[in-house]
Amino acid sequence: MEDCIFCKIINQEIPSKKVYEDDFVYAFMDVNPQAPTHFLVVPKEHISMLTEINDKNAAVIAKVYEAIAKIVKDFNINDGFRVVSNCGESAGQTVFHIHFHVLSGRDMTWPPG
Ligand code: 5GP
Ligand code: ZN
Repeated sequence: MEDCIFCKIINQEIPSKKVYEDDFVYAFMDVNPQAPTHFLVVPKEHISMLTEINDKNAAVIAKVYEAIAKIVKDFNINDGFRVVSNCGESAGQTVFHIHFHVLSGRDMTWPPG
């Protein structure tokens, strides 16, 4: 998708610190980390947000979670982590290519702010 920053990262038009890639998923370190470990996992297919998931594209979300399970094992993240997907501006979504924040390395508050 033109003008989508995460599509450009996936296509290597914008550099990123890659942590994982397969045919369906790309993962990279967040440029503005909110925890000692903070990476983003995105489907390569452009889906703008969670409400755009449907029966045709839902399988890729399982691939995202499969990738997260692999990455946290590779990173030896054994002390817990949080997965966050902000959906819509009021929830804090700033990039409209669906993504899953994975945060770890510090205590997490609940409920989130
Ligand atoms: P959102 O606010 O949409 O839930 O999350 C977007 C995330 O993307 C933010 O945490 C922000 O730091 C990250 N981000 C925005 N632009 C870039 C970029 O060019 N490179 C990387 N690595 N992360 C980015
Ligand atoms: Zn995109």
